[in-house]
Amino acid sequence: MPLVSAKDMLNKARKEGYAVGQFNINNLEWTKAVLTAAEEMQSPVILGVSEGAGKYMVGFNTVSAMVKAMMETLNITVPVALHLDHGSFDAAKACIEAGFSSVMFDGSHYPIDENIAKTKEIVAYAEERGISVEAEVGSIGGEEDGVTGEGEVADPEECRQIASLGITMLAAGIGNIHGKYPENWQGLDMEVLKEIGETTDKIPLVLHGGTGIPDAMVAEAISYGVSKINVNTECQIAFAEAVRGYIEADKDKVGKGFDPRKLLHPGYEAIIRVVKEKMKLFGSPGKA
Ligand SMILES: [Zn+2]
Repeated sequence: MPLVSAKDMLNKARKEGYAVGQFNINNLEWTKAVLTAAEEMQSPVILGVSEGAGKYMVGFNTVSAMVKAMMETLNITVPVALHLDHGSFDAAKACIEAGFSSVMFDGSHYPIDENIAKTKEIVAYAEERGISVEAEVGSIGGEEDGVTGEGEVADPEECRQIASLGITMLAAGIGNIHGKYPENWQGLDMEVLKEIGETTDKIPLVLHGGTGIPDAMVAEAISYGVSKINVNTECQIAFAEAVRGYIEADKDKVGKGFDPRKLLHPGYEAIIRVVKEKMKLFGSPGKA
């Protein structure tokens, strides 16, 4: 199946009350693990690529070619969107040119008028090419690939304005943070989320920083319109722990245990496990 925009899969999720996971990819093993988990779960999935990860994987063209070829050879039948995560204006355009099926333009650090103007321009460019667009209001806390957010709580009126521009999905800061949550974290601002869900005309909402949000809070957020949840750090930690376990057990010193295909395999399996767990939590298995 070719890549699809995130539009239909997210509108369906919003209507039926579950969420589709966005899992960020970092290399070939990562991509193969997420695609394999999605196929086994018969779940739609979004592959997230930050600008930094795009650079690491030798550019958006390389990423797009790798994902497309892999989907064909692995016989992936579930809907897959290849999505730019927290993109600048230029990166969003570059990803569309490179064959991505979805982009996020993160204008949350601009004054609202500028965010609106730039989001509008990306929507016009993406729309005629059938590409879905995610916009953001109120920056997400923490640091992700050099993009640092203050962790604001979005203004529902600004959300309404941005949501009305023809975007596909809206990310709104509601106290969520990239990376690990601090001990004294106050939790998601459900009051504001509820209000945003009511003022944005059933548009799918996006929850960034999905690592470490308690399960009950995830379920509540989905009930208020969250239809896409981004997971990144959790896969990274699981991958690192699994590879660490392999090396600490000296398995790389036995026979051909140093073979990278063996050395990284526990990490690959750990990602599959995390992705499947998350999909079950989000309610997306069987929704392909
Ligand atoms: Zn994010």
